[in-house]
Amino acid sequence: MPELPEVQALVDLLGQQAVGRVVARVDVAAISALKTYDPPVTSLAGLTVTGAARHGKFLDLDVDGLHLVVHLARAGWLQWKESLPSLPPKPSGKSPLALRVHLDNGTGFDLTEAGTRKKLAVYVVRDPAEVPGIARLGPDPLDPAFSPDVLREILEAHGRSQLKGVLRDQSVVAGIGNAYSDEILHVARMSPYKPSNSLSDEELKALWAAIRDTLTDAVERSRGLASGKLKAEKKSGLRVHGRTGLPCPVCGDTVREVSFADSSLQYCPTCQTGGKPLADRRMSRLLR
Ligand SMILES: [Zn+2]
Repeated sequence: MPELPEVQALVDLLGQQAVGRVVARVDVAAISALKTYDPPVTSLAGLTVTGAARHGKFLDLDVDGLHLVVHLARAGWLQWKESLPSLPPKPSGKSPLALRVHLDNGTGFDLTEAGTRKKLAVYVVRDPAEVPGIARLGPDPLDPAFSPDVLREILEAHGRSQLKGVLRDQSVVAGIGNAYSDEILHVARMSPYKPSNSLSDEELKALWAAIRDTLTDAVERSRGLASGKLKAEKKSGLRVHGRTGLPCPVCGDTVREVSFADSSLQYCPTCQTGGKPLADRRMSRLLR
């Protein structure tokens, strides 16, 4: 799933390649991806792309005052194309193509979604805040205003809720998902189950620095890469996420996993939980 760094890289790419160009045509291949109808998606044709921005994990293309907002969800992606077929795509249940944007110089991009979940969401709005998910977003962790004090306030407000869930909640901090929350907690050497309101001043600073460093580093590594190379770059930079059974790059202990209904988390026991494996609720339920 693309998170803040990958979406930021796509925004940078659109800033370089699309801003200043005129939208020639938009092809909708999967109508289910389009969540708004007024203004119609066809109203983008003929307008100039004036900016590209990110709100949490949402990508926002400013097209002369209208906004094409995209949430890539779990399996969505944006593929930049130096040339696009001129014929409109045939609607097909099997094609991953959801939306195709043609620019006036023949370039453009495809929004695609692999698999059958169909969570990719595209909005055409006059103000990005009209998108419900954007209106609910918490502060952006790369915003200079995101200070340790801001983080302290957020964590205190969540009482004994576990850090892992709090960091992933988009209304708490915008842009961090399952992968980078694992990474941040590993860098900060904290258990994913640690209660949000239990951090000492020193721990709070460590967590804040881990958030900033992990995301800034991932943004730097993604910058300037072609859209097709971003996923591999993200994977190569991960220390614990998706690395169950492999050695922790810091201490060499084996990275462990806790499974949930539709996701899992990874962590290093030596670095994060005092050497003790966390209870896997799913496993312990099965064993009972
Ligand atoms: Zn370790």
